[in-house]
Amino acid sequence: MRLLKRLLTVIVLALLLVLAILVVRTVRLESRFAALPDVRTLPAAPPFDVAVAARHLGEAVRFQTVSHQDPAEDDAAEWNRLHDWLATSYPATHAALRRELIDGRTLIYTWPGHKPSLAPVVLMAHQDVVPVAPGSESGWHHPPFGGELADGAVWGRGAVDDKGSLVSIFEALEALLRNGFNPERTLIVISGANEEVHGSGARAAAAAMLARGIHAEFVLDEGLLVLARHPVTGGPVALVGVAEKGYATLTLTARAAGGHSSMPPPESAVRTLAIAIERVTGAEAPMSLAGPTREMLEALAPSAPLLARVAIANEWLLGPALIDKMRATPAGAAMLHTTMALTMLSGSPKENVLPERASVTINYRLLPGDASAAVEARARRTVAGLPVDVAIQGTPLEASVVSSTSSRGWSLIAALAADVARSPVAPGLMIGGTDARALQAVAADVYRFQPIVLAAADLAMLHGTDERMTTANLESAIAFYARLIEAATR
Ligand SMILES: [Zn+2]
Repeated sequence: MRLLKRLLTVIVLALLLVLAILVVRTVRLESRFAALPDVRTLPAAPPFDVAVAARHLGEAVRFQTVSHQDPAEDDAAEWNRLHDWLATSYPATHAALRRELIDGRTLIYTWPGHKPSLAPVVLMAHQDVVPVAPGSESGWHHPPFGGELADGAVWGRGAVDDKGSLVSIFEALEALLRNGFNPERTLIVISGANEEVHGSGARAAAAAMLARGIHAEFVLDEGLLVLARHPVTGGPVALVGVAEKGYATLTLTARAAGGHSSMPPPESAVRTLAIAIERVTGAEAPMSLAGPTREMLEALAPSAPLLARVAIANEWLLGPALIDKMRATPAGAAMLHTTMALTMLSGSPKENVLPERASVTINYRLLPGDASAAVEARARRTVAGLPVDVAIQGTPLEASVVSSTSSRGWSLIAALAADVARSPVAPGLMIGGTDARALQAVAADVYRFQPIVLAAADLAMLHGTDERMTTANLESAIAFYARLIEAATR
């Protein structure tokens, strides 16, 4: 009886201790991020006319600067027209900034600051757009290359991705110049022309910067945005990309003796391949809260409901529950580990012939810190002992480095991003790729953010149908870029 009583006391004390730790850690949880500058101390946006900007965006959308997988299909004249249009529509910018053309159609604009010793700031926005899927035109409420202004939005392919940013940056520059602004620090604008295919333009721009010994303070490109309803807080959150995942493709090829399917041997290439697939998919990279994803949760904790706050503050105990919650959606799971997707399969070309080879293509998206060589080595180990070859396809893109959340660039971008929808701001991991990746050798920090508010359901319009930029979003984007340029270069 005394033993039981003692045992109960120990259990109760242990529970109380755990509870106390949970409470203390939750109470003490404050954003690890340094306090952001008060936006009221940052420059206000110079005057600009959003109606004119909307008309300009509509005009920009009408140039069919479509990047095709085969560049021979591109219509080069459309890029020339866009370049001429930029020069005519933004005369002050073209008078004050030096313009260069690189890698054919990629634009570099330089606004020299009067203190050349300061590291420049780089803004990026690509000119090219993805094609409109054949047969999907009828799904658009306004023609995809019409650039129509209707229902408070500019409609068309590229209205958001990424002519929305391109036009906003130029509107901001023009407004700043009209207002007599003169930068101390040099500003460079890079506009890639093939972001949607291979990004050679951004790489050429980066190489040109390196050759000139230019080291930028920070780069800001497209990427994440203000999500109208973030799953952690239930409200708007400005997500600024501090890293992007890498990309690698492996092909697994099973070998066997071929022959006629009337006398099949017990082992076949297809069966061996099936075993290999089973093993590889059974050995997925484990999920963990690390890097930018953990940083995002920690930044959002103060704005999250109590339960979520307790879980984030007590990852030592509740980490697995957090991971379970996040992995429930494919988008959430993709933030937690290197993903693998089985994409292409091939075996025999004929129904009654046993294949000598059967292969599967696996597309990986690499978490920062997980190198393509490590993924390849894992796959090799997993299929060891089977007659299966593992080969990496083409040149993998490694995951980016993770940019700082304590730099001056971060503070300015984060403070202004938070002001777009007066929301919390958090760093985030980009699942897709951007041109900004090419610039990481040029700048200390690379950020990925478009200053607009979209609901999760709106994201389908990017590369999908009914892409459109509301004038409200256009207005916030212009104000954001103008304020950022002035704050970062004054
Ligand atoms: Zn884009």
